[in-house]
Amino acid sequence: MLNTSENTLDPSDWPAFRLQGHQMLDDMLDYLEHLREQPVWQPMPQDVRNTFRQALDNTPLGLTEAHEVFMETILPYAAGNAHPGFMGWVHGGGTPVGMLAEMLAAGLNANLGGRDQAPVELERQLMQWVRTLFDFPETAGGLLVSGTSMANLIGVLVARTALLGTNVRRTGIAGSKQKLVAYTSASAHISIAGAMDIAGIGSDALRRIQANEHYQMDTTALAETVAADKKAGLTPFFIAATAGSADVGAIDPLAAIAELAEREKLWFHVDGAYGALAILAPDIAPRLQGIERADSIAFDFHKWGQVPYDAGFILVRDSAHQLDTFASPAAYLMRETRGLAAGSPWPCDLGPELSRSFRALKTWFTISVYGPEKLGQVISNTCALAQYLKRRIECDPHLELLAPVALNIVCFRYRCRDADRVNADIVIALQESGIAAPSTTTLQGRLAIRAAIVNHRTTERDIDALVDATLNFGEMAESNKPMSQAQEI
Ligand SMILES: *Cc1c(COP(=O)(O)O)cnc(C)c1O
Repeated sequence: MLNTSENTLDPSDWPAFRLQGHQMLDDMLDYLEHLREQPVWQPMPQDVRNTFRQALDNTPLGLTEAHEVFMETILPYAAGNAHPGFMGWVHGGGTPVGMLAEMLAAGLNANLGGRDQAPVELERQLMQWVRTLFDFPETAGGLLVSGTSMANLIGVLVARTALLGTNVRRTGIAGSKQKLVAYTSASAHISIAGAMDIAGIGSDALRRIQANEHYQMDTTALAETVAADKKAGLTPFFIAATAGSADVGAIDPLAAIAELAEREKLWFHVDGAYGALAILAPDIAPRLQGIERADSIAFDFHKWGQVPYDAGFILVRDSAHQLDTFASPAAYLMRETRGLAAGSPWPCDLGPELSRSFRALKTWFTISVYGPEKLGQVISNTCALAQYLKRRIECDPHLELLAPVALNIVCFRYRCRDADRVNADIVIALQESGIAAPSTTTLQGRLAIRAAIVNHRTTERDIDALVDATLNFGEMAESNKPMSQAQEI
């Protein structure tokens, strides 16, 4: 049991607590140093799962015992996105520096809703860095949020207020006679529709514009749909373009969409969840051309930026719209000019959350300690690895590429009869083998093995392991051998 000093939760024996703390730090550094020797992922045995079904117990665990529970039942059964062989979905790998910064932030226990404090200044510093990265004007504002789902929602809400005025905050959408419609590509992330739903506009009011053969929004179809909606008496107000689509990594034609948005006076939002940070990579950044014209950009530091979860960002060209959307004037205009209540506007005036964590610290540490250039190199490197994987697929008659490789995502499959089922089985076998963890997606009705190379730790060796194991499992499927014997290969 942890002995605490009377009436507080602090330890009575600080030296003993310090020793245990050092042990916990060492264990996590060991974990990160030796990640590669572990399986990417392993299924959780039922008896381990059962340990999470206990009633709340009145007898406290010791800190040492709680740490043992973590080491034995939690750490080995995480999703594995820190591991270089993890290529499923679009997950960042995290870093040891980010981990240490999280510890500092937790110790400080800052609440970033507002007040006159250095943590808020640090978040403002980050905002300025982001603003200059995307070449936004000084009127711009922004906020760290949980992730791009939240950032997309904020984008929709700010665009709504910019169009309808602050009255909409009292009357709701129903108070306006206008029927708002928004546009995104057919391959856009589900959180765009989610944002329309949560904002009360409704996902039916989101037009999904068809994509071309590169999985980019078809701008001719976009222009036609906007024109038809206007003709029908609807009010087009918002376009969400994607920079780095989650399924294949496509970048919509941002400059052409910016053009159209300007002409039609629509809010131009970019969902750059993972792709926007390619602005840090000199060889990839030119492909984002047009993003600097956006009214708002949503992106994540926790994907390509490698900041530990969670850290998303919303950048808004004209921060006045953001204040109009979220600030309660009664509260923020009455703040002090001195003392702890100075320094308005506060972060809570720019988004829906009042209490907020110190996400800025791990983000600032990551950018400062590694430097933007090195982070950009990681992004370039994952794209180069995707090209390497693409070449391996093209050189092997058993494998087939299913989508163009624009950035760091490669969609392919093993050629065989009943390919949808076999490739789904191959992906499960890969995951269960612990060798690699890709995911699946469906492209034009065909199931693809999807390798999203996001992790800074991934190397050609990990790509080779993925390809070799895929070929092995494919062969087993063709000779009707069960792939569950996978562990033996
Ligand atoms: C990951 C992703 C999202 C959602 O971001 P979260 O940080 O998971 O909320 C939205 N759009 C795209 C294109 C993504 O890749």
